[in-house]
Amino acid sequence: MNLATSLDQIKGVGPKTAAELRRAGLETVGDILLFLPRKHEDFTNVTPITELQPGKVTIRARCQQISTRPVRRGLRLTTAVLADDTSKLNAIWFNQPYRVQQLGSSDEWFYFSGTFEYNYGRYQLANPTAELSKELPVQVDRLLPVYHAVRGLKSQTVRKVIEQLRPLMSVLPETLPPSVVKNEKLLDRAAAISAMHFPRNEREVEQARQRLAFEELFELVLASQLNKIDNQKLAGFAIPFEKSVVQDFVKKLPFTLTNAQRRAAWDILQDFENSRPMNRLLQGDVGSGKTVVAGLAARQAASAGYQTAFMAPTEILARQHAQTLAKLLEPFGVTVGLLIGSVKGKARQTLYQQIASGAVDVVVGTHALIQNKVEFHRLGFVIIDEQHRFGVEQRQRLLMKVKNERLETGVLDTLSEPVTITAGSSRETGRAAPGSRARHGGEESVSSAPLDAKKPSITAVMPHLLAMTATPIPRSLALTVYGELDVSVLDELPRGRRPILTKIISPPSREAAYTAIDQQIAQGRQVYVVCSLITDSDSSDRKSVEAEYKRLKNSIFGRRRIAMLHGKMTASEKDQIMQAFKDQRYDILVSTTVIEVGVDVPNATIMMIEDADQFGLAQLHQLRGRVGRGQHQSYCYLMMSTNNKPSQRLREIEKSNDGFHLAEVDMSLRGPGEIYGRMQHGALNLQIATLADTQLIARAQKAAKRFIESGEPLSNYPALEARVRHNQRVTTLN
Ligand code: ADP
Ligand code: MG
Repeated sequence: MNLATSLDQIKGVGPKTAAELRRAGLETVGDILLFLPRKHEDFTNVTPITELQPGKVTIRARCQQISTRPVRRGLRLTTAVLADDTSKLNAIWFNQPYRVQQLGSSDEWFYFSGTFEYNYGRYQLANPTAELSKELPVQVDRLLPVYHAVRGLKSQTVRKVIEQLRPLMSVLPETLPPSVVKNEKLLDRAAAISAMHFPRNEREVEQARQRLAFEELFELVLASQLNKIDNQKLAGFAIPFEKSVVQDFVKKLPFTLTNAQRRAAWDILQDFENSRPMNRLLQGDVGSGKTVVAGLAARQAASAGYQTAFMAPTEILARQHAQTLAKLLEPFGVTVGLLIGSVKGKARQTLYQQIASGAVDVVVGTHALIQNKVEFHRLGFVIIDEQHRFGVEQRQRLLMKVKNERLETGVLDTLSEPVTITAGSSRETGRAAPGSRARHGGEESVSSAPLDAKKPSITAVMPHLLAMTATPIPRSLALTVYGELDVSVLDELPRGRRPILTKIISPPSREAAYTAIDQQIAQGRQVYVVCSLITDSDSSDRKSVEAEYKRLKNSIFGRRRIAMLHGKMTASEKDQIMQAFKDQRYDILVSTTVIEVGVDVPNATIMMIEDADQFGLAQLHQLRGRVGRGQHQSYCYLMMSTNNKPSQRLREIEKSNDGFHLAEVDMSLRGPGEIYGRMQHGALNLQIATLADTQLIARAQKAAKRFIESGEPLSNYPALEARVRHNQRVTTLN
């Protein structure tokens, strides 16, 4: 028997059990050993009912009576009477109707663990787990692992199989470098995994958790540090700062830049001067004014003779950016082109030519930019708007547009300094060359002994990259995943903006909301109404764009100009409607979340979100960001479809306009994995670690740095290497 042995070979695992395990994705001995418990129940402390104190408790009892009933939409209440030899107790479960089946027909003894509390006028046991007593080890003298019920898999089944495999635990190989295990005083891997399955006490669980969490974080931060080193091996195009060019641009703006915008622009212009490509994230809450910062940088790039590519996730946005940039740049003779799907035929061919010849200085577009047919001309700067909406690969393909061209035309040879420099010699130049410590003030840099120091330091030529996002990265996430990233933050909104007033609206207040909307329209303002469905659906009573459009048009807002917008329309239909809305030819736009990202109509002051509970916190914040972009007071109405108590999400968004704060809240409500999954198209896949553990993160960072400096090849640890390489791919910006 070894780790690769199929589970159906194990004694006591029949075909039925094997099938259950397989359905949960567990095929081999190795699979199930690494299937770690989600928590541990403490059965070492069973209390007689008469002696219970409020708080977390475990009792051993039988179920005398159980029933379930709907209380209101979305809520079922199951109640039971539990009894032991000393007394009786009421138990209550929310939305766990299966308890009736589990407990109702059985006269067996169960262990119940839950919270003993005073509620609804009496003491009760709330949401207890239930474990059949006779299935537990005779002597319940240890913590009991509870496993994820993947496709109905029972914890009991997993426990039985793992019990059989206990002797194999010791053969689980170590995956971390021994030096790391030793320096960090970690449990070795076999001991840690064993302790997760068979812990004797809380302390053992905690030690095991620490070790496994450390490993996950180590894999992340090592990847992030290696990415940084890789970036330092790239050559870019130095774009000198020209004071007069920048000053002229700023003078012509219809507003003054915020200090945050100035700082961000300065960061970018400084990076430009470097012959190493910029790799910078521009983070700024919705409406903070990222576009103009990007425009200023594009102006400077054009002045130095470099083309800029500006990629946006939707046609609506690309068109809007092209318009904005044309206004900003064309007075300086900088030309702007728009490449999107709806540009077709002859016009498209002409555009291709103009891009290839350099007749267009700034090319704005959607994914259309990364098609093979598109050839750029002296592409020196790439801007990616709403970067989290793109996959790593898409970003890379755009950046790679430069490489082929440059290598073919031999530009590499003319880039004298960085190309000829190796990791070893760069330090003597005293300039900010690849691998240099100078730029980091001698502290931060991890590159003094890159893993493959023998290779020449330059591996490719890349344009400067500015990735923009309104999705704030929680601090802890920034520390780990993006720990080595250059970030500029727009933490200040343009002057004169008034905070958006957000209100949760329950059904009885709907009419009043419409009245408020009508008054706004009478004053010349515009309104968004967002629905989560396009068409009415039988399986849901949520509002749809089509039905709401009709309803509003035929009743309350009969005399107003209403349009609808959704993803089933063609790109050109969408564009036309969006443009007409911008031009104030409509008062109300009923839309799906296609308007979520980036759309800028400063005259729109009301955002009404139907079935608001259907949306995530970040999405609500993004949607709300479509208003409050001009001088006028703006409002966001979160429409409830029932009189139920609003979710915590809605209450949080009602309270705060601060995207950073909301991101932190979102993370604590949903866990970082969820958030990260949305931010990047790759699984971060933290199973044990949480990003809240900043101390462990700091330790992992130091350890990773030390490991890199030791010069030991990562390839000595194949399992570790595979995961680190994966992480490098999913966490890189470029
Ligand atoms: P986001 O950061 O959400 O992409 P935009 O770049 O779309 O924001 O800018 C939002 C709005 O604010 C635009 O109408 C833009 O012209 C305006 N704006 C940007 N910077 C300033 C500023 N410094 N003062 C006033 N208005 C500004
Ligand atoms: Mg934007």
